[in-house]
Amino acid sequence: MASRRASKPTAASVAWDAWLTTRGGAPIIAARQAVRLEALVAHARSASRFYAEQYRDLPAGCFKPADLRRLPPVHKPALMERFEDWVTDPRVTRAGIEAFVADLDNVGKDFLDQYVVFTTSGSTAEPALLVQDPRSIAVMMGLAYARSAGVLPLRLLPRILARGARQAAVFAQGGHFLTATMFARQLRTQPYRRRIARYFSILDPLPQLVEQLNGFQPALVSTYASALSVLIDEQEAGRLHISPVVISSGGELLLPSVQRRAEEAFGCVVVETYNASEATPLSLPCRLGRLHLNTDWFIVEPVDAAGDPVPTGHRSDTVLVTNLANYVQPVIRYELGDSVVIAAQPCACGNPLPTITPEGRTDEILRVPRAGTGEVVLLPMAIATVVEETPGVLRYQILQTAPATLAIRLDTDPGAGRARVWQRAHDRLDSFLRTQGAAGVTVELADERPQANPRNGKLRHVLCTLPPTSPAASP
Ligand SMILES: [Zn+2]
Repeated sequence: MASRRASKPTAASVAWDAWLTTRGGAPIIAARQAVRLEALVAHARSASRFYAEQYRDLPAGCFKPADLRRLPPVHKPALMERFEDWVTDPRVTRAGIEAFVADLDNVGKDFLDQYVVFTTSGSTAEPALLVQDPRSIAVMMGLAYARSAGVLPLRLLPRILARGARQAAVFAQGGHFLTATMFARQLRTQPYRRRIARYFSILDPLPQLVEQLNGFQPALVSTYASALSVLIDEQEAGRLHISPVVISSGGELLLPSVQRRAEEAFGCVVVETYNASEATPLSLPCRLGRLHLNTDWFIVEPVDAAGDPVPTGHRSDTVLVTNLANYVQPVIRYELGDSVVIAAQPCACGNPLPTITPEGRTDEILRVPRAGTGEVVLLPMAIATVVEETPGVLRYQILQTAPATLAIRLDTDPGAGRARVWQRAHDRLDSFLRTQGAAGVTVELADERPQANPRNGKLRHVLCTLPPTSPAASP
């Protein structure tokens, strides 16, 4: 059976299949999706108590993609609450995973020598614990091998090699985040990469980060959009002087204006990526900079607030995603919370996979007084990570309410003690601000709780409520 044969793919077999599928066009993509969906739903019904219950009223037997909308959507809080009913391997317990991720030395190591674990803030509600099986990892690597090349024209290869093919990943450190985990894992499993790939933490003070990047001179840079804005400022000011060949920006919305500025400042190709820790790589950019959905392995359904499908070319309120690769923790019609548009027309690059435009995250860059004179730039992903990784924090928002005041809205774990969690969060922020060179910044606990956008339920984590009068604010 095709589904059984496909149940143990390797990165190489996935890459080969992905290449054939893209060449085969829409009918082959639909056929792959159908076989994989049927197998996944059958597996989830038989091996996950959570899904068995969800689907108990559905007729047994064969399941077709046309029936997809009969399956109830699922949500992170309910799945997390029933973590052990959700997963399909009884050895994967919530306590076991929590103990594993509590140890940061485990970043890049496999749980039970078999599963890759990510933690995510996501942009709604509480963090998730995500477990990927070897099949899912093979798909992650295979799709990247087969379909990332589209963005790297062969003519750029000599320039990349001239810079030693050095890769800089500029992201948050200090947690089992997807990028940090996959990066550490690749260094562990492919030791030769240690010579050419380096992880830079945006939690380091900016001057230090700039100096490290100057020393490394990467050919390829991947980072968050907000970090990219700051790197552009540094390059334009002459403090940063790197000349990468390709920059990829992910995790947050990349504004076209920022993309253009980056292309001018660095004289290179700048591409956006759009992924979810629950489904990676959901999309990959093409040479025209459009994001193609990997619909042979992931089903993406844009829906409105009532859960009804939104037609192509129209903006959705949220999106339901189905990950056809991961069997240990099935993700079937899982609400991601992102607002997206799926293009009605095929991309001019010739790739038959549909393209998506995400609205993405819209956290803001904060600027606070520096010790002495001037200001310190605080990247949203960096400051958010400091609060998010505080034990006992469930949900939070960081607001800059005055030039030197940060107010924190906090929801804490009921068992953790609100006062104690706040004290820890406060101390961590205080120490973070000091290492960044900030001075005289007050960090206070807000009276109100975190407030999600009522329209799409998304929680912005970092907001500035000051009027945009700062002369140093970026355009
Ligand atoms: Zn394209």
